[in-house]
Amino acid sequence: MATETHCPYCSLQCGMRLTGRRVPEVSAWEEFPVNAGALCRKGWAAAGLYGGRERLTSPLVRDRATGEWAAVSWDDALDRVAAGIRAAQAEKGPDGVAVFGGGGLTNEKAYALGKLARVALGTSQIDYNGRWCMSSAASAGIRAFGLDRGLPFPLADVEETDVLVLVGSNLAETMPPAARHLDRLRARGGRVVVIDPRRTPTADRADLVLQPVPGTDLALALGLLHLLVAAGAVDEDYLAARTTGWAQVKESVAPWWPERVERVTGIEAAQVRELAAVLAGSPRVMVLTARGAEQHSTGSDTVLAWINVALALGMVGTRGAGYGCLTGQGNGQGGREHGQKADQLPGYRRIDDPAARAHVAGVWGVDPDSLPGPGRSAYELLDACGTDDGPSAMLVLGSNIVVSAPNATQVTARLEALDLLVVCDVVMSETAAIADVVLPVTQWAEETGTMTNLEGRVVLRQEAITPPSGVRSDLEVIAAIAERLGSTATFATDPEEVFAELGRASAGGPADYSTITYDRIREEGGVFWGGERLFASSFNHPDGRARMLTVEHRGAAEVPDDDYPVHLTTGRVLAQYQSGAQTRRVRDLPDDGPFVELHPLLAGRLGLATGEAVQVSTRRGTMTASARVVTTIRPDTVFVPFHWVGANRLTNDALDPASRMPEFKVCAARLAAVGRG
Ligand code: SF4
Repeated sequence: MATETHCPYCSLQCGMRLTGRRVPEVSAWEEFPVNAGALCRKGWAAAGLYGGRERLTSPLVRDRATGEWAAVSWDDALDRVAAGIRAAQAEKGPDGVAVFGGGGLTNEKAYALGKLARVALGTSQIDYNGRWCMSSAASAGIRAFGLDRGLPFPLADVEETDVLVLVGSNLAETMPPAARHLDRLRARGGRVVVIDPRRTPTADRADLVLQPVPGTDLALALGLLHLLVAAGAVDEDYLAARTTGWAQVKESVAPWWPERVERVTGIEAAQVRELAAVLAGSPRVMVLTARGAEQHSTGSDTVLAWINVALALGMVGTRGAGYGCLTGQGNGQGGREHGQKADQLPGYRRIDDPAARAHVAGVWGVDPDSLPGPGRSAYELLDACGTDDGPSAMLVLGSNIVVSAPNATQVTARLEALDLLVVCDVVMSETAAIADVVLPVTQWAEETGTMTNLEGRVVLRQEAITPPSGVRSDLEVIAAIAERLGSTATFATDPEEVFAELGRASAGGPADYSTITYDRIREEGGVFWGGERLFASSFNHPDGRARMLTVEHRGAAEVPDDDYPVHLTTGRVLAQYQSGAQTRRVRDLPDDGPFVELHPLLAGRLGLATGEAVQVSTRRGTMTASARVVTTIRPDTVFVPFHWVGANRLTNDALDPASRMPEFKVCAARLAAVGRG
């Protein structure tokens, strides 16, 4: 009998059916509405996660002196973890221990991890890699709307708009089943606009493509709003009835003439005018941002600038229009709602809100005053590891930090400076390889749990196959650590039980799961928290109005100069996912290794041809990869995919002040043909 479940990878959480008890076989689940049976090649090849020889099935402990690994019993491994935690906290207090989670963990795991940190460990030092995914959009959504839900409407609404503006999204390559909505939109006469420094497969489906200098999307939004005001295209009735702050925003965009936009963004003034005219003449406009716009030290303000465009046109809350963010990681949305973020408690509540603390503490059966306050954000937490003021022990779940952190060489050194690094994983990832203790855990089809996809739709991944003997679930590991530390709080290991507790803890919060059950999810094909479409009649601020906030163009933290003369940007390729820890081990997915995409003009200056080795350097590190000479990228920009060790040795750790998002998407770099001096 087939089990209905969801893909192990991205935020679309495509439905699929699995058969077989040892290695699953993937087949289509046509009735699931998000993908209607379609999968990308990663989804079709997902069964390749099983049956490989690299799967870890025994806890491992590393001898630091020799670097040798030894298989140990679960009891021995957990004793060592507990002893290391006690030692760190004896030396540095509760915050001597840190927890680092992931946006791919189920809601149940994210919740249990936050509870482990706040209750059993008593540490404020918890954050997760989702901070690097869409925290800028989350921060902007909360500031503008009072609520952050990636898409406040079903993805299929894309087909109903008249103009879809994709800012920094390559969805045709990163989530291909979603691209059918673009095709249907165009088939009924709608238009697609793509804004991206690279002409991607998504741009191939667009009617208008703008290729700005990386890190200048904010200036483009200011310029568009300037032109919309000049054209009388803003919806003054909507602005008066549903927003605050418009007068200040209107004044702030006055200096953003198209010629100024051209100087900043590199987009010709005529093209800026063309896009503004398209927006002004369309009854429904939808703006969607993704990592290209968000992973900047100005990411939150950049998203706000685009939200201002959507609000000024009167689009937000209108069906087939508005603003949304395309989340990246599988549980990018739910992962940030249930307490593994440094500043939040379950239900997307602020950890410094006394009412939220009292409510959650009541569910957990602890004194609200015993709960720690907000901790460090992901990068700041890692950067503090092993320092006098930082943690000296860390527990990592669902994250391959060595590959995915910005300024990765420095971060790796910080992890190596810890007294104890514990990693829960299924394979010996690059981060597990530098750990002291590695705990082998179940994954995906071996376990049950909920994920919240990019639409805010809570879906259920169901256990389909038998896990190998020797592994435990993350929930069991969390409960075992809590027990060894003498916690009196209850840590359930049954996912449905954890989900019910999560529902109680989230009740009354912005992301309230209290009425969602596994049975409802099964019966309804997923359940939207907060309802299918948000903001139709009011926003989540006390006055019900959206806040239009004035934002200024600041530019990237690092811009090209004589030493580092080109922009470097990073991103994904179709066949790989995130740090590649899973997909690089799937035989049916091509792994060509990292490459450097550059324009023929730049390649010509360097004497480089496709396939030749090129060294890329920034102020933080160096990597060597093969060149790919393409005409689809700006001549002043190079692109490196981040699925392999290397790209993030180059990236900049400058942080957005509002979201603490690092500037993954742009820094200054120099190139040299290898072997030519
Ligand atoms: Fe769908 Fe994303 Fe999985 Fe591809 S990786 S099948 S787009 S959920």
